[in-house]
Amino acid sequence: MLKVLVPADEEIRKLDLELVKERDALEGVKKDLANVREKIEQERQQYDVIEADRGARIQEGRVMQQQLERSREKLNRTRNEKESNAVQRELEETRKLLRDVEDAVGKRSLELDELRKSIIDHEEQEAGFIARIGETEGAVSARLQQIEAERSEKARARDEIAKKLPAPLLRKYDQIRAKRTSGAARLEGGRCKACNMSIPPQLSQRIVRADVLEPCPSCNRLLYIDAQASTPPAS
Ligand SMILES: [Zn+2]
Repeated sequence: MLKVLVPADEEIRKLDLELVKERDALEGVKKDLANVREKIEQERQQYDVIEADRGARIQEGRVMQQQLERSREKLNRTRNEKESNAVQRELEETRKLLRDVEDAVGKRSLELDELRKSIIDHEEQEAGFIARIGETEGAVSARLQQIEAERSEKARARDEIAKKLPAPLLRKYDQIRAKRTSGAARLEGGRCKACNMSIPPQLSQRIVRADVLEPCPSCNRLLYIDAQASTPPAS
């Protein structure tokens, strides 16, 4: 029975690995999509903040322009050099403040240009991920269904075989399988076919003669004889 159970379990194990792989592939792209969307969201928020700041600076600049004009008018009305000098100083001061504000507006504009470009790049990436998910999702879910169907059929067949084994033996087999991916190994040419360690002749003979199940002293898998596999096919 073990010689039937081992390949059945191996097939199920491979299908499980395939299921994980198929699911991971799709999950990976979905994660990429979520990441890029989060980035776009952050950039849009950042854009709004900078744009609002730029608007406020532009407004500030307008106020300064008006102040400059008032100062210029005042300059025309000055009656002596002292007054004139004071207004000139005022003009200089306002011009300097206006330059700073204009610099800030220019800097914000550049930042907004950069952000716009980055958002466009990220939106292109987003579209790419969406397209890829669309393409693969159908194929992957069909493949998943197929693998799952195949797996449950194999699992049913496996349980049929397992039922025929004595419960303690099955328990032991399942315990080893949980630790070592396979629970039993063929004894062939005096060696364990799983770990390739040679089996002491006495133990080997006992297994062959009595067809009893003994664990491999090295990997602990249950050793079994497969007459079909160890004898060359008759022609
Ligand atoms: Zn072994």
